[in-house]
Amino acid sequence: MSDMDTAAATTDIADRVEAVLARTPTGLLIGGSWRDASDGGTFDVENPATGEVIATLASATRADAQAAMDAAAQAQERWARTSSRARSEILSRAFALVRERADDLALLMTLEMGKPLAEAAGEVKYGGEFLRWFAEEAVRDNGRYVDAPEGHLRMLVTRKPVGPCLLITPWNFPLAMATRKIAPAVAAGCTMVLKPARLTPLTAQYFAQIMIDAGLPPGVLNVVASASAASVSEPILADPRLRKISFTGSTPVGKDLMRSATDNVLRTSMELGGNGPLIVFEDADLDKAVSGAMAAKMRNMGEACTAANRLLVHEDVAEEFVDRLAERMRALKIGNGLEEGIAVGPVIEAKARDSMEAFVADAVERGARVVVGGRRVDGPGYFFEPTLLTDVPRDARAVTEEVFGPIAPVVTFRSEDEAVALANATEYGLASYVFTENISRGLRIGDRIEFGLLGLNVGVISNAAAPFGGVKQSGMGREGGAEGLAEYTTTQYIGVEDPWSDVPAAPGDDTV
Ligand code: NAD
Repeated sequence: MSDMDTAAATTDIADRVEAVLARTPTGLLIGGSWRDASDGGTFDVENPATGEVIATLASATRADAQAAMDAAAQAQERWARTSSRARSEILSRAFALVRERADDLALLMTLEMGKPLAEAAGEVKYGGEFLRWFAEEAVRDNGRYVDAPEGHLRMLVTRKPVGPCLLITPWNFPLAMATRKIAPAVAAGCTMVLKPARLTPLTAQYFAQIMIDAGLPPGVLNVVASASAASVSEPILADPRLRKISFTGSTPVGKDLMRSATDNVLRTSMELGGNGPLIVFEDADLDKAVSGAMAAKMRNMGEACTAANRLLVHEDVAEEFVDRLAERMRALKIGNGLEEGIAVGPVIEAKARDSMEAFVADAVERGARVVVGGRRVDGPGYFFEPTLLTDVPRDARAVTEEVFGPIAPVVTFRSEDEAVALANATEYGLASYVFTENISRGLRIGDRIEFGLLGLNVGVISNAAAPFGGVKQSGMGREGGAEGLAEYTTTQYIGVEDPWSDVPAAPGDDTV
């Protein structure tokens, strides 16, 4: 590009940024309208690539949270009686609007979260698919009407919406984590209060307006961003009209919320942290394994619960795998995700960048070798180099903890048993990946690995049609697929008197 072209592109993007921010609601959505916080309080949203404040939003108080809960409770009965076709059509319209406004949504996500624009566009596509999938599922959620085995009773089994739900989402996938909860809740006929992450609320605000534009009735979706998460969650969790909490975020916060959810015995869905292994066997196709590792580790700057946190590589192929991966990682361009050709954006905040430094220092102290990267990049913004570590001891923090950033530690193994033991040596159990050209071995690993998700020769497996979720301390419940809708429904059984009970039994009939 010439200097003049670059200047024109910069002005163009600056205009687009200004326009999208002007279109993004900054208030609280309660009962169908956007309003200020009851005490007039606000909080700032920063761009992690520059450290600049990009927006100021209303910060919900306890009273606002209570008002949102009231709105959800009031809207519940009528919403539950809406036909599934009507709910499905709202989701279909929302899906079309997400496609129409995809550029706005992608831009907002890059601005508030830092992921490169191309990845943000990918998330718009992925996040939108939940709307399409649950629009299709909404009208297929059938119950059954059958005879009791003894023949004296008919059994009517129906599925009803669970009721008002509290949805809490993290900052790393600002659109997809919201649509993965909102779409099935709408399909099932539940009302909601959504609390998006304080660091990335803009995408959720913008998306909530899409739901209103798609025809969602007032009170069905309420959105209460806040500088104080507990001010929102505490009064809502204490309200006896709440029926469910669905949370995506870190394991410690999830455990706290589970404790609070016991008082009212809430239905609980928890999508928590991960410490995913990516196993490369000696019989793997290394092209696939390296590409899979790049996708599973470097997507979203490594800030994904599905990230391959630990690369477990058979010692016979470790050297070649590391050489090839190093070449790919060195080629990644780091910078502001709004610029052309950027593959790695900033991490979310200064604290996250400092924690990357601490992970590397700890590993090196224990004997690891830095093959690529390893350092922070001077600001503005919070950047950390894509980092590849080898000879990493098994007790290094980068191996035992969820890194949530662009650091890939390589650990070697000698046998299948050892690989499985290493993979399972964590309290987490969300995503795992295996690379082998031996399909029996791949499926055997599926049996032995204690993870809710397994990618077999692929590095990205998330899909709206698939049941996504973890085991062990990675959580409970599933999002996406048919299972995703079941999380928002409850089963009711109605025993119906036998319509033939006053008709004399046929000779020889021994009905009880
Ligand atoms: P976090 O737990 O800090 O925050 C998640 C959400 O909870 C945010 O909205 C936050 O404001 C809110 N929150 C924090 N404290 C709260 C409290 N006391 N009461 C109520 N709400 C509270 O997590 P994060 O840093 O935003 O996200 C990163 C974590 O999320 C990682 O551990 C990652 O693995 C996990 N994650 C899991 C999945 C999954 O599907 N399993 C998906 C994405 C992220």
